[in-house]
Amino acid sequence: METAFAGVLGAMIGSFLNVVTHRVPRRLSIVAPSSRCVSCSTPIKPYDNIPVLSYLLLRGHCRHCRASISPRYPLIEAGTAGLCAAVVADRSGAAGIALGVAMVLLLVPLAFIDLEHRRLPNAITLPGCALAVILGSALDPAGEPTRLIAGAGAGGALLLAALAHPGGMGMGDVKLAAMIGLFLGKPVIPAILIALICGVLVGGVVIARRGVKDGRRTAIPFGPFLAFGAVLALFAGSEILHWYSTTFLH
Ligand SMILES: [Zn+2]
Repeated sequence: METAFAGVLGAMIGSFLNVVTHRVPRRLSIVAPSSRCVSCSTPIKPYDNIPVLSYLLLRGHCRHCRASISPRYPLIEAGTAGLCAAVVADRSGAAGIALGVAMVLLLVPLAFIDLEHRRLPNAITLPGCALAVILGSALDPAGEPTRLIAGAGAGGALLLAALAHPGGMGMGDVKLAAMIGLFLGKPVIPAILIALICGVLVGGVVIARRGVKDGRRTAIPFGPFLAFGAVLALFAGSEILHWYSTTFLH
């Protein structure tokens, strides 16, 4: 029951995250004006703004100008719904659920903004770091020192990587890694390892398809990989850490 409720609420929040994803990198207000068509600027009627369903009913076109609507919109709504439902089903306790839900709600727009604009706005990562500390200190004060160390360690590790390879990782990735550490605590370690492995694999595929010269020049944003690693670590992080320590540290 809670899972279904979290899913419906997640889809509605996902609809708002679409607004965030579109407007924050363009420095537009996320409150006003109300949602409108990106092509013809006609305000979208509430009955055409139902998450996922409206996209399917309108077959991906604006009711007014018939311009096609990006599949990113229903994807973000369905993805947010699925992630919120999964956090509520998987995690227990107010701290676990609040930290998990808040983190995925920040990661969804950050991943899509980085894909489109190749940057991770401070307007999301910095309040995200603050929110992690506030929620963590309020709901699980005993665990806060570990999360602070995880945030500083993750941010510090990526800062070293960014300084060693300018043009690879950016300062946005450093702040995002710190934010993920502040939400996850120790599982930030598998989160970053998963992100690095996926980044290398995808980079390899790009080089294989476009050749070494073009492939190296193709900038691949790292934020979506960090977000993916963080979500995997959120659900399986302690299992991965346990598996690692029992397999390799004996
Ligand atoms: Zn339109």
